[in-house]
Amino acid sequence: MENNRIVISHTQVEAFERCHRYYSYLYREHLANDVGVPAKFSVGLIHRPLAALYTSGKVAPDWTALWDRYVAENGLAVLSNEPYTLDVAKSAFEQYAERYYALDVETFNIRPAETMGFWREMLAIPELGGVEVLYLSKPDVVFLGRHDQYSKVIPVDFKSFRAGRNASLKAKTLTSPLNRQLVGQAMAVGAESFMVNLFCLDAAKGGKPKLDISRHVVALPPEIRAEWAQETLQTARAMLECDRQQTWPKMAPSACMAYGELCQFWALCHAGDKRHDIIADLLKSNRKEESRHADEK
Ligand code: SF4
Repeated sequence: MENNRIVISHTQVEAFERCHRYYSYLYREHLANDVGVPAKFSVGLIHRPLAALYTSGKVAPDWTALWDRYVAENGLAVLSNEPYTLDVAKSAFEQYAERYYALDVETFNIRPAETMGFWREMLAIPELGGVEVLYLSKPDVVFLGRHDQYSKVIPVDFKSFRAGRNASLKAKTLTSPLNRQLVGQAMAVGAESFMVNLFCLDAAKGGKPKLDISRHVVALPPEIRAEWAQETLQTARAMLECDRQQTWPKMAPSACMAYGELCQFWALCHAGDKRHDIIADLLKSNRKEESRHADEK
């Protein structure tokens, strides 16, 4: 917190609600977040080329550079998983661009949200010394309608997930007005709806990868927007209280296997007070590693 102001984002809210201790490792101790292959693929190979398509009209991404960057940023582990392959990424981009891009450019003015950042000023919290809460959200792209039927601003997001048993439920939750991440994007840009493009990815067994791409515009009634603001403020209040008490409760064991994997901080939580020394050593060796890489460049 700086200048009596706390800045939060959906990622922070999600981490805090998963486990307060987990949040403290990421946002108070500044340890790196080890997200899984699907999230890395989505950021590097789905979001990045599509954001570049809209913001700089790049209709032919440099796939070699994108793939090399994805591997360099994430390590060789990202190569192991179907359907997270370069062919799938290329096919997702091509099919999406063919279906939507020309019409979008004709219908909307496009704003490169990544370079702008959007802030929503929220209420001060009197019982915590009038601390001000700012919510930061950066949609992938923001559309501003040119025609009467699309006269409003709308944030646009891309979501990819694996085909399979729970795919239809996943699609249902991502396109719901309860999707707090996308409600937050709408709130941040002053919109009353959000747009989400879904990429349901299937494992390629030779030939052209199978994909199901769909687009959804989700209206947000006033009560949903009001609830979002109350809930977000409530979470900010709880974060500040943890800060004030310097206590970050562990949501163990329920949170320790979230998303079907053991939490990356499992060992730290077992170390009790010794975790502070372990974290200090870890950060020191990370800094050494970073300066070694800088020297080599
Ligand atoms: S190991 Fe469990 S209690 Fe510890 S940070 Fe992770 S989720 Fe929270």
